[in-house]
Amino acid sequence: MAKIFCIANQKGGVGKTTTTVNLAAGLARIGQRVLMVDLDPQGNATMGSGVDKRSMALSVYDVLLESALVSEAAVYSEKCGYHVLGANRELAGAEVELVDVERRERRLKQALAEVDVEYDFVLIDCPPSLSMLTLNGLCSAHGVIVPMQCEYFALEGLTDLVNTIKQVHANLNKDLQIIGLLRVMFDPRITLQSQVSDQLKAHFGEKVFDTVIPRNVRLAEAPSYGLPGVVFDPSARGSQAFIGFAAEMVERIQKM
Ligand code: ADP
Ligand code: MG
Repeated sequence: MAKIFCIANQKGGVGKTTTTVNLAAGLARIGQRVLMVDLDPQGNATMGSGVDKRSMALSVYDVLLESALVSEAAVYSEKCGYHVLGANRELAGAEVELVDVERRERRLKQALAEVDVEYDFVLIDCPPSLSMLTLNGLCSAHGVIVPMQCEYFALEGLTDLVNTIKQVHANLNKDLQIIGLLRVMFDPRITLQSQVSDQLKAHFGEKVFDTVIPRNVRLAEAPSYGLPGVVFDPSARGSQAFIGFAAEMVERIQKM
């Protein structure tokens, strides 16, 4: 049975996509069977996994509209070692097209049931909003991984996300829990970041992952080559951190 995780944070530019593709690649490196689902119409996780969003025959959009199965729409990225259920601009229309559909927030969950035995991990890259697309992700998942920068306003945004997760847990998905907060783009030389990091630990305790992802230019360069940093330059500091994070995740789910 696949463990399904959303990478979510309603703020943009906090490192969701970078976390999704690098964790996927890190897990693939240690022999895990991974499906990466791109739920963001921007399609960055798709492109960043070496799949051209403009020439995809089928995407997560077709899956949500029930005109394709996950097994039909997912493609294998040879370079990355995991499967990609991609997204492009078409996905932005899904919100409107599903507006009158009953149980529309469960479309992805139903679709993923088909491939449950095919994968060890399904990682869902969520858009920067608490939209119907994100809701589909949260309804499908066993848990949420929240990447966050250790900045003052990061804590404020977290309250909204935590409340949404609580509501989804209460009303739609009893399985859902926060797996953990992942500190990303971390720079220990910045005093404020260390302070916020300490506050996070004091407040969320065990829910803060041990792994810290440093700010590292190789991670930012990799997408322009259509690759996760972990594949583009495995020896880079940022890539090494994500490889460590993959190991931490495997350890965590054994305790779940
Ligand atoms: P989101 O998906 O939340 O919008 P991204 O993963 O796209 O965020 O990251 C936003 C930007 O920050 C991208 O340009 C990405 O390459 C860069 N970035 C993400 N993580 C790191 C990091 N650890 N070090 C340096 N740059 C990073
Ligand atoms: Mg993104």
